[in-house]
Amino acid sequence: MRRILWFRRDLRVEDNPLLSQEGDALPIFIFDPTILEPLPSNDRRVTFIFNTLLHLKSALRVCGLDLALFYGKPTDVFEWLLKNASYHNVCASGDYDAYSLQRDREISHLIEFNRIHDTYIFHPDEVLKKDGTPYQVFTPFYNCAKTVFNSTHMAEFAPVSQSLIDFDYTKIHHIDENGHSSIPLSLQSIGFEPQPLTANQKMSPNEKLKSFASKLNHYSHDRDYMILDATSSLSADLRFGTISIRTLLRWLSKQKKLGIDTEPFFRQLIFRDFYAMLLYHFPHLATQNFRYRFKGNPNDHYFKSFCTAQTGVPIVDAGVRELLETGKMHNRVRMICASFFTKNLLLPWQWGEAFFAQHLMDYDAASNILSWQWSAGTGVDPQPYFRIFNPYTQAHKFDKDKMYIKKYLPKHYNTLPIVDHQESSKKALVYFRSSISDIKII
Ligand SMILES: Cc1cc2nc3c(=O)[nH]c(=O)nc-3n(C[C@H](O)[C@H](O)[C@H](O)COP(=O)(O)OP(=O)(O)OC[C@H]3O[C@@H](n4cnc5c(N)ncnc54)[C@H](O)[C@@H]3O)c2cc1C
Repeated sequence: MRRILWFRRDLRVEDNPLLSQEGDALPIFIFDPTILEPLPSNDRRVTFIFNTLLHLKSALRVCGLDLALFYGKPTDVFEWLLKNASYHNVCASGDYDAYSLQRDREISHLIEFNRIHDTYIFHPDEVLKKDGTPYQVFTPFYNCAKTVFNSTHMAEFAPVSQSLIDFDYTKIHHIDENGHSSIPLSLQSIGFEPQPLTANQKMSPNEKLKSFASKLNHYSHDRDYMILDATSSLSADLRFGTISIRTLLRWLSKQKKLGIDTEPFFRQLIFRDFYAMLLYHFPHLATQNFRYRFKGNPNDHYFKSFCTAQTGVPIVDAGVRELLETGKMHNRVRMICASFFTKNLLLPWQWGEAFFAQHLMDYDAASNILSWQWSAGTGVDPQPYFRIFNPYTQAHKFDKDKMYIKKYLPKHYNTLPIVDHQESSKKALVYFRSSISDIKII
């Protein structure tokens, strides 16, 4: 059996079901121009992915394998591969956003496509209501998920010995409508400049787990305080699969046996599954409201002020500066910023979602889209439209000594806000209520 092992959101050797079947293997990764071309040459995620791929290549070599790198549209790559050698099938882990599902569908018309369950705890059809329909409210989903969850969701996949298919693993294979050419194996040859990563972004998932172990007991309380380094920082690792979700769950189970309260952290992992399940079942959520016809008021001046950290609201501007400087933003600050964006500035949530997508190191379509819809009050199980975070009281509560704000704001920072919180909140409520007569659950 000659199999193409297509690495996508599972860039690791450890606990990878892709590597747990015998046969002749061609492990590949594809740089997809549809995803890469819109990105600026200084996108730090591409540096992260490139470094991770080099690491993966070496780790595969230790197992007697290697990784062939391609640049091209996935359908062109598979057409070329099939023309130039015979393969029986392709194996890849599930990727559930609309673009990925459509891409995989097209490839399944060319070659047998085996989708392996790996990225999430549950398959998107595994935790459903009794009538077989998807949950739309988190708490019942969470309660059901806990009853479905068992040791199989933590099973470990050890690599088995596979024979490496003969191929040129030293170059990037550029495939386009003109055919095949080879380009050097470097970031520059696919149009990107290496970017400096933060110390945290350079840490391995195991190092992060070691450092997080002592914080887990206080996670539930400390996770909201933005200056504290109280969370796992594993979101980008979970996004790109540099840690397996099952490895994380086994680690969590060990912590539980030590008497640590693991429930609050487990709950967040279930949120990740909930959002992926929703986007899988309701792909239109990527661009459309789930409920209400709130559209927001497009306003370029407000949008520009937000994106350049010049709203005059300290916690919001500090958050945006953290994002622009590091590719990270603390979860509570994401919530404050998204509420300010959609409710005080009344901007369309889709604009904020796209801005985060452009900069977040851990950008994940399902988590980002559904979190933005939650903040805007338009999503499945949303925060009520009339709940508007007060960015000043939030900052007072979770950044009392302004340490986070001071860390990111420049000295000459201008605190003249572009909108007054009370006034803009009242205006937003009038806007939302006037749209309510038009309530439409789509
Ligand atoms: C407006 C907005 C946009 C967001 N966009 C993204 C995104 O693009 N990618 C992303 O991974 N998360 C997103 N989140 C969720 C959350 O902010 C990040 O997952 C978290 O800040 C990552 O830090 P951590 O790994 O230290 O999280 P931890 O607190 O250590 O949580 C552990 C893991 O659980 C998952 N998780 C935690 N909180 C959430 C949540 N609210 N929703 C879904 N999964 C969660 C993540 O995979 C995270 O790594 C967004 C939240 C908001 C409010």
